[in-house]
Amino acid sequence: MKLELFVVLVAVTCATSKPLNKATTGKNKLLLVSFDGFRWDYDQDVETPHFDQLVVDGVKAKYITPPMLTMTSPSHFTTITGRWVEDHEVVHNMMFNTKTNLKVPHKKTLTRSEWWDNGALPLWITAQDQGLKTGSFFFPGGGANYSGQAVNQVVVEEAGHPDDNETEWRQNIDTVMSWFTEEDLDLVTLYYGEPDNVGHAKGPDHPRRIEIIEQIDRTIGYLREAISRHGLNDSLNVIITSDHGMTTVKKRPEVDEIILNKYLNLLQHASFEILDYGGFGILTPRPGQEQKVYDALSNAPNLTVYKKSEMPESFHLAKSERLPPIVVVADLGFNLNSRFIVYVNKGDHGYHNGEMDMKTIFRAFGPNFKRNFLTEPFDSIHIYPLMCKLLQIEPAPHNGSLAVTEDMLQYNGESEQTKVGQMCRSSSF
Ligand SMILES: [Zn+2]
Repeated sequence: MKLELFVVLVAVTCATSKPLNKATTGKNKLLLVSFDGFRWDYDQDVETPHFDQLVVDGVKAKYITPPMLTMTSPSHFTTITGRWVEDHEVVHNMMFNTKTNLKVPHKKTLTRSEWWDNGALPLWITAQDQGLKTGSFFFPGGGANYSGQAVNQVVVEEAGHPDDNETEWRQNIDTVMSWFTEEDLDLVTLYYGEPDNVGHAKGPDHPRRIEIIEQIDRTIGYLREAISRHGLNDSLNVIITSDHGMTTVKKRPEVDEIILNKYLNLLQHASFEILDYGGFGILTPRPGQEQKVYDALSNAPNLTVYKKSEMPESFHLAKSERLPPIVVVADLGFNLNSRFIVYVNKGDHGYHNGEMDMKTIFRAFGPNFKRNFLTEPFDSIHIYPLMCKLLQIEPAPHNGSLAVTEDMLQYNGESEQTKVGQMCRSSSF
Protein backbone atom coordinates (compact mmCIF):
# COMPACT_ATOMS: atom_id res chain seq x y z
CA MET A 1 0.00 0.00 0.00
CA LYS A 2 1.35 3.42 -0.92
CA LEU A 3 2.18 5.63 2.03
CA GLU A 4 -0.23 8.43 1.13
CA LEU A 5 -3.08 5.96 0.71
CA PHE A 6 -2.31 4.56 4.13
CA VAL A 7 -2.36 8.06 5.60
CA VAL A 8 -5.69 8.73 3.92
CA LEU A 9 -7.17 5.50 5.22
CA VAL A 10 -6.03 6.31 8.75
CA ALA A 11 -7.57 9.77 8.46
CA VAL A 12 -10.83 8.28 7.25
CA THR A 13 -10.90 5.71 10.02
CA CYS A 14 -10.37 8.38 12.67
CA ALA A 15 -12.94 10.72 11.19
CA THR A 16 -15.68 8.10 10.89
CA SER A 17 -15.72 7.59 14.64
CA LYS A 18 -17.41 10.96 15.06
CA PRO A 19 -21.20 10.52 15.25
CA LEU A 20 -23.39 12.38 12.79
CA ASN A 21 -26.17 14.50 14.21
CA LYS A 22 -28.97 12.18 13.14
CA ALA A 23 -30.53 10.72 16.25
CA THR A 24 -33.69 9.20 14.85
CA THR A 25 -34.06 5.54 14.04
CA GLY A 26 -32.03 4.15 11.19
CA LYS A 27 -29.57 5.73 8.82
CA ASN A 28 -30.24 8.58 6.49
CA LYS A 29 -30.53 8.01 2.78
CA LEU A 30 -28.41 9.65 0.11
CA LEU A 31 -29.17 10.98 -3.37
CA LEU A 32 -26.27 11.94 -5.62
CA VAL A 33 -27.34 14.04 -8.63
CA SER A 34 -25.04 14.87 -11.52
CA PHE A 35 -25.78 17.45 -14.21
CA ASP A 36 -23.17 16.65 -16.86
CA GLY A 37 -20.87 19.49 -17.87
CA PHE A 38 -22.17 22.06 -15.36
CA ARG A 39 -19.37 24.62 -15.28
CA TRP A 40 -18.77 26.09 -11.83
CA ASP A 41 -20.03 29.56 -12.78
CA TYR A 42 -23.04 28.63 -14.93
CA ASP A 43 -25.48 29.90 -12.30
CA GLN A 44 -23.92 33.34 -12.12
CA ASP A 45 -25.46 34.95 -15.20
CA VAL A 46 -28.91 33.34 -14.82
CA GLU A 47 -31.82 33.80 -12.43
CA THR A 48 -31.61 30.65 -10.29
CA PRO A 49 -33.95 31.06 -7.30
CA HIS A 50 -33.79 27.38 -6.36
CA PHE A 51 -30.00 27.17 -6.52
CA ASP A 52 -29.90 30.38 -4.44
CA GLN A 53 -32.17 28.80 -1.85
CA LEU A 54 -29.84 25.79 -1.69
CA VAL A 55 -27.07 28.09 -0.49
CA VAL A 56 -29.28 29.21 2.40
CA ASP A 57 -30.48 25.70 3.21
CA GLY A 58 -27.27 23.79 2.69
CA VAL A 59 -23.67 23.71 1.56
CA LYS A 60 -22.01 25.24 -1.48
CA ALA A 61 -18.43 24.90 -2.68
CA LYS A 62 -17.12 27.86 -4.63
CA TYR A 63 -16.14 25.22 -7.20
CA ILE A 64 -14.65 21.73 -7.30
CA THR A 65 -11.87 20.27 -9.43
CA PRO A 66 -12.48 17.10 -11.43
CA PRO A 67 -9.68 14.57 -11.91
CA MET A 68 -7.29 15.00 -14.79
CA LEU A 69 -9.06 13.61 -17.76
CA THR A 70 -11.98 15.98 -17.55
CA MET A 71 -14.27 13.63 -19.42
CA THR A 72 -17.65 12.15 -18.50
CA SER A 73 -16.96 8.48 -17.72
CA PRO A 74 -13.51 8.92 -16.12
CA SER A 75 -14.68 11.78 -13.90
CA HIS A 76 -17.99 10.23 -12.83
CA PHE A 77 -16.20 7.02 -11.98
CA THR A 78 -13.71 8.90 -9.81
CA THR A 79 -16.63 10.44 -7.93
CA ILE A 80 -18.35 7.11 -7.34
CA THR A 81 -15.17 5.13 -6.50
CA GLY A 82 -12.97 7.76 -4.84
CA ARG A 83 -10.12 6.48 -6.98
CA TRP A 84 -7.90 8.33 -9.43
CA VAL A 85 -8.32 7.49 -13.09
CA GLU A 86 -5.07 5.47 -13.14
CA ASP A 87 -6.54 3.23 -10.43
CA HIS A 88 -10.07 2.73 -11.74
CA GLU A 89 -8.85 2.52 -15.36
CA VAL A 90 -11.93 4.03 -17.00
CA VAL A 91 -9.56 6.18 -19.03
CA HIS A 92 -11.90 7.46 -21.75
CA ASN A 93 -15.54 7.91 -22.65
CA MET A 94 -15.00 5.39 -25.41
CA MET A 95 -14.17 1.81 -24.66
CA PHE A 96 -11.17 0.77 -26.70
CA ASN A 97 -8.61 -1.95 -27.24
CA THR A 98 -5.30 -0.82 -28.71
CA LYS A 99 -4.48 -4.33 -29.96
CA THR A 100 -7.73 -5.14 -31.76
CA ASN A 101 -8.51 -1.49 -32.66
CA LEU A 102 -11.93 -1.90 -31.05
CA LYS A 103 -13.65 1.43 -30.35
CA VAL A 104 -17.05 1.54 -28.68
CA PRO A 105 -18.93 4.87 -28.44
CA HIS A 106 -19.74 6.20 -24.97
CA LYS A 107 -23.44 5.29 -24.68
CA LYS A 108 -22.76 1.74 -25.85
CA THR A 109 -20.14 1.30 -23.09
CA LEU A 110 -22.69 1.82 -20.32
CA THR A 111 -23.52 -1.87 -19.94
CA ARG A 112 -20.10 -3.23 -20.90
CA SER A 113 -18.80 -4.49 -17.56
CA GLU A 114 -15.37 -5.30 -18.98
CA TRP A 115 -14.81 -1.55 -19.42
CA TRP A 116 -15.86 -0.55 -15.88
CA ASP A 117 -15.01 -3.51 -13.66
CA ASN A 118 -11.28 -3.25 -13.04
CA GLY A 119 -11.09 -3.94 -9.31
CA ALA A 120 -12.05 -0.47 -8.02
CA LEU A 121 -15.43 -0.99 -6.38
CA PRO A 122 -17.98 1.77 -6.88
CA LEU A 123 -19.99 2.98 -3.92
CA TRP A 124 -23.16 1.12 -4.95
CA ILE A 125 -21.43 -2.24 -4.56
CA THR A 126 -19.57 -1.38 -1.36
CA ALA A 127 -22.86 -0.17 0.14
CA GLN A 128 -24.70 -3.32 -0.97
CA ASP A 129 -21.95 -5.49 0.51
CA GLN A 130 -22.69 -3.78 3.84
CA GLY A 131 -26.42 -4.41 3.72
CA LEU A 132 -27.71 -1.28 1.97
CA LYS A 133 -29.88 -1.12 -1.14
CA THR A 134 -28.84 1.10 -4.01
CA GLY A 135 -30.02 2.41 -7.36
CA SER A 136 -28.64 4.18 -10.41
CA PHE A 137 -30.70 6.24 -12.83
CA PHE A 138 -28.63 6.92 -15.98
CA PHE A 139 -25.46 7.37 -13.89
CA PRO A 140 -22.28 6.34 -15.78
CA GLY A 141 -21.03 3.00 -14.48
CA GLY A 142 -24.35 2.09 -12.88
CA GLY A 143 -25.25 -0.33 -15.66
CA ALA A 144 -22.17 -2.55 -15.27
CA ASN A 145 -21.60 -5.56 -13.03
CA TYR A 146 -18.74 -5.58 -10.57
CA SER A 147 -17.32 -9.02 -9.78
CA GLY A 148 -20.66 -10.27 -11.05
CA GLN A 149 -22.73 -8.02 -8.78
CA ALA A 150 -25.24 -5.56 -10.24
CA VAL A 151 -26.67 -2.41 -8.69
CA ASN A 152 -30.10 -3.27 -7.16
CA GLN A 153 -32.16 -0.87 -9.30
CA VAL A 154 -30.79 0.34 -12.60
CA VAL A 155 -31.99 2.42 -15.51
CA VAL A 156 -29.39 2.80 -18.26
CA GLU A 157 -29.48 5.67 -20.74
CA GLU A 158 -29.69 4.47 -24.32
CA ALA A 159 -28.01 5.96 -27.36
CA GLY A 160 -30.10 8.71 -28.92
CA HIS A 161 -32.00 9.43 -25.72
CA PRO A 162 -33.03 13.12 -25.64
CA ASP A 163 -31.15 15.00 -22.94
CA ASP A 164 -33.37 18.03 -22.41
CA ASN A 165 -36.96 16.79 -21.89
CA GLU A 166 -38.10 18.60 -18.75
CA THR A 167 -41.20 16.45 -18.31
CA GLU A 168 -39.05 13.34 -18.33
CA TRP A 169 -36.60 14.95 -15.90
CA ARG A 170 -39.47 15.25 -13.41
CA GLN A 171 -40.69 11.71 -14.06
CA ASN A 172 -37.18 10.46 -13.34
CA ILE A 173 -37.23 12.29 -10.01
CA ASP A 174 -40.60 10.68 -9.22
CA THR A 175 -39.15 7.26 -10.00
CA VAL A 176 -36.15 7.89 -7.76
CA MET A 177 -38.42 9.09 -4.94
CA SER A 178 -40.47 5.89 -5.22
CA TRP A 179 -37.25 3.87 -5.03
CA PHE A 180 -36.54 5.56 -1.70
CA THR A 181 -40.03 5.29 -0.26
CA GLU A 182 -41.53 2.13 -1.76
CA GLU A 183 -38.40 0.02 -2.21
CA ASP A 184 -36.46 1.50 0.68
CA LEU A 185 -33.26 2.13 -1.26
CA ASP A 186 -30.52 3.86 0.76
CA LEU A 187 -28.43 5.33 -2.05
CA VAL A 188 -29.47 6.49 -5.51
CA THR A 189 -27.36 8.20 -8.15
CA LEU A 190 -29.25 10.27 -10.73
CA TYR A 191 -27.68 11.61 -13.91
CA TYR A 192 -28.75 14.29 -16.41
CA GLY A 193 -27.07 14.79 -19.79
CA GLU A 194 -27.49 18.57 -19.62
CA PRO A 195 -26.01 21.16 -19.67
CA ASP A 196 -23.22 19.18 -21.38
CA ASN A 197 -25.21 18.58 -24.54
CA VAL A 198 -26.10 22.21 -25.09
CA GLY A 199 -22.59 23.28 -24.09
CA HIS A 200 -21.13 21.15 -26.89
CA ALA A 201 -23.73 22.01 -29.48
CA LYS A 202 -24.13 25.74 -28.89
CA GLY A 203 -21.17 26.77 -26.73
CA PRO A 204 -21.20 27.89 -23.09
CA ASP A 205 -22.04 31.52 -23.95
CA HIS A 206 -25.13 30.77 -26.07
CA PRO A 207 -28.61 31.86 -24.86
CA ARG A 208 -29.75 28.22 -25.08
CA ARG A 209 -27.28 27.37 -22.30
CA ILE A 210 -28.96 30.02 -20.15
CA GLU A 211 -32.35 28.42 -20.83
CA ILE A 212 -31.07 24.99 -19.84
CA ILE A 213 -29.68 26.34 -16.55
CA GLU A 214 -33.13 27.84 -15.87
CA GLN A 215 -34.63 24.43 -16.64
CA ILE A 216 -32.17 22.77 -14.27
CA ASP A 217 -33.05 25.33 -11.62
CA ARG A 218 -36.76 24.53 -11.99
CA THR A 219 -35.83 20.86 -11.70
CA ILE A 220 -34.05 21.55 -8.42
CA GLY A 221 -37.25 23.20 -7.23
CA TYR A 222 -39.24 20.16 -8.34
CA LEU A 223 -36.78 17.84 -6.60
CA ARG A 224 -37.14 19.70 -3.31
CA GLU A 225 -40.92 19.71 -3.60
CA ALA A 226 -40.85 15.97 -4.36
CA ILE A 227 -38.64 15.30 -1.34
CA SER A 228 -41.18 17.11 0.85
CA ARG A 229 -44.12 15.35 -0.78
CA HIS A 230 -42.52 11.96 -0.05
CA GLY A 231 -41.79 12.89 3.56
CA LEU A 232 -38.02 12.61 3.07
CA ASN A 233 -36.93 16.04 4.35
CA ASP A 234 -35.55 14.63 7.59
CA SER A 235 -34.02 11.45 6.22
CA LEU A 236 -32.55 12.22 2.78
CA ASN A 237 -29.22 13.90 2.17
CA VAL A 238 -28.67 15.26 -1.33
CA ILE A 239 -25.44 16.07 -3.15
CA ILE A 240 -25.64 17.89 -6.49
CA THR A 241 -22.49 17.91 -8.55
CA SER A 242 -21.09 17.38 -12.03
CA ASP A 243 -18.14 15.89 -13.89
CA HIS A 244 -16.37 18.80 -15.60
CA GLY A 245 -16.88 22.29 -17.00
CA MET A 246 -17.00 23.53 -20.59
CA THR A 247 -15.07 26.04 -22.68
CA THR A 248 -15.67 27.77 -26.01
CA VAL A 249 -13.89 26.05 -28.89
CA LYS A 250 -11.54 28.37 -30.75
CA LYS A 251 -11.98 28.26 -34.50
CA ARG A 252 -10.66 29.86 -37.67
CA PRO A 253 -10.02 32.63 -38.48
CA GLU A 254 -9.04 33.45 -34.88
CA VAL A 255 -6.77 30.42 -34.50
CA ASP A 256 -5.13 27.74 -36.60
CA GLU A 257 -6.83 24.53 -35.68
CA ILE A 258 -4.57 21.59 -34.81
CA ILE A 259 -4.32 18.88 -37.47
CA LEU A 260 -1.88 16.29 -36.15
CA ASN A 261 -1.23 14.54 -39.45
CA LYS A 262 0.59 17.71 -40.56
CA TYR A 263 3.28 16.93 -38.00
CA LEU A 264 3.29 13.14 -38.12
CA ASN A 265 2.20 10.58 -40.68
CA LEU A 266 -0.26 8.90 -38.36
CA LEU A 267 -0.87 5.80 -40.46
CA GLN A 268 2.85 5.13 -40.75
CA HIS A 269 3.82 5.75 -37.14
CA ALA A 270 0.81 4.91 -34.98
CA SER A 271 -1.02 1.59 -34.64
CA PHE A 272 -3.93 3.01 -32.60
CA GLU A 273 -5.35 6.47 -32.00
CA ILE A 274 -8.31 8.35 -30.61
CA LEU A 275 -7.58 11.93 -31.63
CA ASP A 276 -10.81 13.42 -32.94
CA TYR A 277 -12.38 13.70 -29.52
CA GLY A 278 -12.07 17.22 -28.12
CA GLY A 279 -8.94 18.40 -26.36
CA PHE A 280 -7.60 15.06 -25.19
CA GLY A 281 -5.95 12.51 -27.46
CA ILE A 282 -4.25 9.13 -27.14
CA LEU A 283 -2.13 7.08 -29.47
CA THR A 284 0.00 3.96 -29.58
CA PRO A 285 3.20 4.32 -31.64
CA ARG A 286 4.25 1.45 -33.87
CA PRO A 287 7.12 -0.60 -32.36
CA GLY A 288 10.29 1.46 -31.91
CA GLN A 289 8.53 4.68 -32.95
CA GLU A 290 7.70 6.21 -29.54
CA GLN A 291 10.45 8.83 -29.50
CA LYS A 292 9.82 9.80 -33.11
CA VAL A 293 6.09 10.21 -32.44
CA TYR A 294 6.81 12.22 -29.31
CA ASP A 295 9.30 14.51 -31.08
CA ALA A 296 7.10 15.07 -34.13
CA LEU A 297 3.95 15.90 -32.16
CA SER A 298 5.95 18.18 -29.88
CA ASN A 299 6.30 20.49 -32.89
CA ALA A 300 2.55 21.05 -33.05
CA PRO A 301 1.48 24.39 -31.53
CA ASN A 302 -1.07 24.75 -28.71
CA LEU A 303 -0.52 21.17 -27.65
CA THR A 304 1.36 19.35 -24.88
CA VAL A 305 2.63 15.86 -25.63
CA TYR A 306 3.27 13.42 -22.80
CA LYS A 307 4.86 10.03 -22.65
CA LYS A 308 2.61 8.16 -20.28
CA SER A 309 5.57 7.24 -18.11
CA GLU A 310 6.59 10.89 -17.77
CA MET A 311 3.25 12.47 -17.04
CA PRO A 312 3.12 14.76 -13.99
CA GLU A 313 2.19 12.85 -10.86
CA SER A 314 -0.63 15.32 -10.23
CA PHE A 315 -2.44 13.87 -13.29
CA HIS A 316 -2.71 10.48 -11.58
CA LEU A 317 -2.67 8.82 -14.99
CA ALA A 318 0.87 7.41 -15.36
CA LYS A 319 0.16 4.11 -13.61
CA SER A 320 -2.72 3.23 -15.92
CA GLU A 321 -2.16 0.07 -17.93
CA ARG A 322 -4.94 0.88 -20.35
CA LEU A 323 -3.79 4.32 -21.37
CA PRO A 324 -1.65 4.19 -24.55
CA PRO A 325 2.01 5.32 -24.32
CA ILE A 326 1.41 8.80 -25.81
CA VAL A 327 -1.14 11.29 -24.49
CA VAL A 328 -1.75 14.71 -26.01
CA VAL A 329 -3.61 17.54 -24.30
CA ALA A 330 -4.57 20.64 -26.27
CA ASP A 331 -4.41 24.14 -24.82
CA LEU A 332 -7.74 25.42 -23.52
CA GLY A 333 -10.26 25.79 -26.33
CA PHE A 334 -8.22 24.03 -29.02
CA ASN A 335 -9.65 20.86 -30.52
CA LEU A 336 -7.48 18.07 -31.75
CA ASN A 337 -8.03 16.80 -35.26
CA SER A 338 -6.22 13.84 -36.79
CA ARG A 339 -6.35 14.35 -40.56
CA PHE A 340 -9.25 16.71 -41.27
CA ILE A 341 -11.27 19.17 -39.26
CA VAL A 342 -14.33 17.03 -38.63
CA TYR A 343 -15.16 18.43 -35.25
CA VAL A 344 -18.17 20.71 -35.18
CA ASN A 345 -18.60 21.32 -31.45
CA LYS A 346 -18.92 24.92 -30.27
CA GLY A 347 -17.92 23.99 -26.73
CA ASP A 348 -15.76 21.27 -25.24
CA HIS A 349 -13.93 19.83 -22.25
CA GLY A 350 -11.15 17.29 -21.74
CA TYR A 351 -8.62 20.06 -21.05
CA HIS A 352 -6.28 20.45 -18.07
CA ASN A 353 -8.22 20.23 -14.82
CA GLY A 354 -6.37 23.31 -13.53
CA GLU A 355 -8.20 25.50 -16.05
CA MET A 356 -11.05 27.40 -14.41
CA ASP A 357 -13.36 26.52 -17.32
CA MET A 358 -12.99 22.82 -16.37
CA LYS A 359 -14.08 23.39 -12.74
CA THR A 360 -17.53 22.27 -11.76
CA ILE A 361 -20.18 22.52 -9.04
CA PHE A 362 -20.88 21.07 -5.61
CA ARG A 363 -24.05 21.67 -3.60
CA ALA A 364 -25.47 19.64 -0.74
CA PHE A 365 -28.41 19.74 1.64
CA GLY A 366 -30.25 17.49 4.01
CA PRO A 367 -30.34 16.53 7.67
CA ASN A 368 -26.58 15.92 8.02
CA PHE A 369 -25.41 19.06 6.24
CA LYS A 370 -24.87 22.45 7.76
CA ARG A 371 -26.95 25.33 6.52
CA ASN A 372 -25.67 28.46 4.83
CA PHE A 373 -22.20 26.96 4.66
CA LEU A 374 -19.75 27.89 1.92
CA THR A 375 -16.66 25.75 1.56
CA GLU A 376 -13.35 26.31 -0.10
CA PRO A 377 -12.78 24.55 -3.44
CA PHE A 378 -11.78 20.89 -3.25
CA ASP A 379 -11.07 17.93 -5.54
CA SER A 380 -14.05 15.80 -6.55
CA ILE A 381 -12.24 12.67 -5.35
CA HIS A 382 -13.10 13.68 -1.78
CA ILE A 383 -16.85 13.29 -2.40
CA TYR A 384 -16.50 9.50 -2.02
CA PRO A 385 -15.47 9.37 1.65
CA LEU A 386 -18.11 12.02 2.39
CA MET A 387 -20.78 9.76 0.89
CA CYS A 388 -19.49 6.78 2.90
CA LYS A 389 -19.70 8.87 6.06
CA LEU A 390 -23.27 9.94 5.25
CA LEU A 391 -24.30 6.32 4.63
CA GLN A 392 -22.30 5.20 7.68
CA ILE A 393 -20.48 2.51 5.79
CA GLU A 394 -16.85 1.43 5.74
CA PRO A 395 -15.21 2.86 2.60
CA ALA A 396 -13.35 0.61 0.17
CA PRO A 397 -9.69 1.65 -0.34
CA HIS A 398 -9.74 5.08 -1.97
CA ASN A 399 -7.68 8.20 -2.63
CA GLY A 400 -9.94 10.79 -1.03
CA SER A 401 -9.99 12.27 2.44
CA LEU A 402 -12.98 12.95 4.65
CA ALA A 403 -10.91 15.60 6.44
CA VAL A 404 -11.35 17.81 3.35
CA THR A 405 -15.15 17.81 3.44
CA GLU A 406 -16.29 16.91 6.94
CA ASP A 407 -16.50 20.59 7.93
CA MET A 408 -19.76 20.71 6.04
CA LEU A 409 -21.39 18.04 8.19
CA GLN A 410 -23.37 18.55 11.36
CA TYR A 411 -22.23 16.46 14.28
CA ASN A 412 -23.91 15.66 17.54
CA GLY A 413 -23.51 18.33 20.20
CA GLU A 414 -22.47 21.03 17.79
CA SER A 415 -23.52 24.45 18.97
CA GLU A 416 -25.32 27.13 17.02
CA GLN A 417 -22.38 29.35 17.87
CA THR A 418 -20.10 27.19 15.73
CA LYS A 419 -22.47 27.46 12.84
CA VAL A 420 -22.68 31.24 13.08
CA GLY A 421 -18.89 31.43 13.07
CA GLN A 422 -18.74 29.34 9.94
CA MET A 423 -21.36 31.45 8.23
CA CYS A 424 -19.27 34.55 8.92
CA ARG A 425 -16.13 32.93 7.63
CA SER A 426 -17.95 31.92 4.48
CA SER A 427 -19.22 35.37 3.69
CA SER A 428 -16.02 36.28 1.88
CA PHE A 429 -17.20 34.52 -1.29
ZN1 LIG B 1 -19.51 14.96 -19.03
